[in-house]
Amino acid sequence: MRRWNFAAGPAMLPPDVVAEAARRLRHWHGGGPSLLEVPFTGPEVAELLHDVEDELRTLLAVPPGHRILFVQGGASLQFSAVPLNLMPAGGSADYLVAGYWAERASAEAARYGHVRRIADAGTVDQGAAYLHVTSCETADGTWEPALPDSPVPLVVDATADLLARRLDIGRCGIVYAGAQKNLGVAGLTVLIVCEDLLGRARPGTPAMLDYAVVARNDSKACTPPVPALWLTSLMLRWVRGRGGVAVLEARNRRKAALVYAAIAAAEGFYRGLAAPPRRADVAVCFRLPTPDLDRDFVAAATEQGLLHLKGHPAVGGVRACLFNAMPIEGAAALSDFMRGFAARHA
Ligand SMILES: *Cc1c(COP(=O)(O)O)cnc(C)c1O
Repeated sequence: MRRWNFAAGPAMLPPDVVAEAARRLRHWHGGGPSLLEVPFTGPEVAELLHDVEDELRTLLAVPPGHRILFVQGGASLQFSAVPLNLMPAGGSADYLVAGYWAERASAEAARYGHVRRIADAGTVDQGAAYLHVTSCETADGTWEPALPDSPVPLVVDATADLLARRLDIGRCGIVYAGAQKNLGVAGLTVLIVCEDLLGRARPGTPAMLDYAVVARNDSKACTPPVPALWLTSLMLRWVRGRGGVAVLEARNRRKAALVYAAIAAAEGFYRGLAAPPRRADVAVCFRLPTPDLDRDFVAAATEQGLLHLKGHPAVGGVRACLFNAMPIEGAAALSDFMRGFAARHA
């Protein structure tokens, strides 16, 4: 039986990336020490950092005035790092809140200053230090159809959709993403920071969270997560081999359409949590008529090799993550299963 992994993160990787990683782990650079044992101060890791940055710069069209940095602590640590770097003591920031992760980010920022939670980016306060947007909400199955215009620096949590659809990085002051969804494995967070925003951290900011310190040390202020960076280098090569972000974006649209069509075909039995244009292509969230049926659905799907479909605990229901690594066949298998389950239970 084929197995399909619909988990939110760590999410599935392309099987050929996993196979290549297994093959090359012991013999990373010829016959030397394995990848797990290479000191980060040496030329191999410098080259790896350089490769990953180059690849990201090309795939995402990152403008020359933006630095690409690599840190640890997950996207969640950026919920603290962003206000510490951008919000002066006594200052304020606006958060566009449309779901679970933006709620979490804004709650963390509120520890450091005044946070305004807004529902419409048209109402941004000109005096805000920045506007924070979560481009895709994985728990709720929604995404922003487009990045908003902002009179203040735009900060984007793109953990769920970086590399899964086109994003105009030039319009962003900061973009951050945990790697475990579209970029590789847990342990690495990618940060893209406009140079103008470096050097503004408030006094008392931990040095390892100060973007200027990370930038000055070329992401080696502390030991970088070398294995995670290497996995990302394999992932980026895979993305390039597939034709790049625009091609994957179109493929993601086709995958999501298969699952949304199964919801529409049994309307009333399945209830989508979001409607176009806000429903996301990379996280499809829906409910059945009762929580018991949600549970039965997830259990029956698991028996058929459709794994990790339980919704985020804060939201409930069913969630299918369809990040870049999920092929069309996986989405089609889920869509077929949904039609069959509805026919048996509706
Ligand atoms: C998964 C997710 C996170 C959490 O990432 P961590 O690296 O576990 O902190 C944050 N934001 C969004 C949008 C996510 O999808």
